[in-house]
Amino acid sequence: MSSIKKKIVFLGGSSVGKSSILLRFTNNQFQEGQEPNVGASFLTKELSIENLKYKLQIWDTAGQERYSSMAPMYYRSASGAIIVYDITDSESFITAKKWVKELQQMGPIDVKMAIVGNKVDLSNDRQVSIEEVKEYAESSGALFFETSAKTGKNVYELFRQLLTHLPKT
Ligand code: GDP
Repeated sequence: MSSIKKKIVFLGGSSVGKSSILLRFTNNQFQEGQEPNVGASFLTKELSIENLKYKLQIWDTAGQERYSSMAPMYYRSASGAIIVYDITDSESFITAKKWVKELQQMGPIDVKMAIVGNKVDLSNDRQVSIEEVKEYAESSGALFFETSAKTGKNVYELFRQLLTHLPKT
């Protein structure tokens, strides 16, 4: 059986946990004080979901504003976009919404978006409510998850659901 190839891109501000979610998903690891990413990198991951084999090419971006003029290069031909903010940082949700808008205006026409509030293990310091994002995600046609790269909460589920929403070709 040949595998379904999909490009997935991570977008969002810096330090929200994009690299950490990816590391949790690919290696089931977490590193406190993960080194910031410079520029963009990608890796491949194979997995099976509901009897379908996927070969994912996952792009991780640095997130700094200064790279955003290069962003179109990252999300070009992406099937799925994972837009991450930090639930303890309301500023990062504003940045996430900018990415959603940019994708809607400039991204691939049928790209499926997942909006992800990360660091839910720090919910005592929460600044962004679930209700606010849920409503926003629904009105944008995006999926919504809260994750913790630290505990692993919802990380696999995020990928599983995003993939089940993509065309099976
Ligand atoms: P990126 O710049 O968006 O790729 O963010 P990183 O993955 O480099 O993470 C930034 C910082 O947040 C690092 O110190 C991580 O260890 C930390 N971090 C990432 N995810 C989580 C999480 O789910 N919970 C907590 N408590 N810290 C996290």
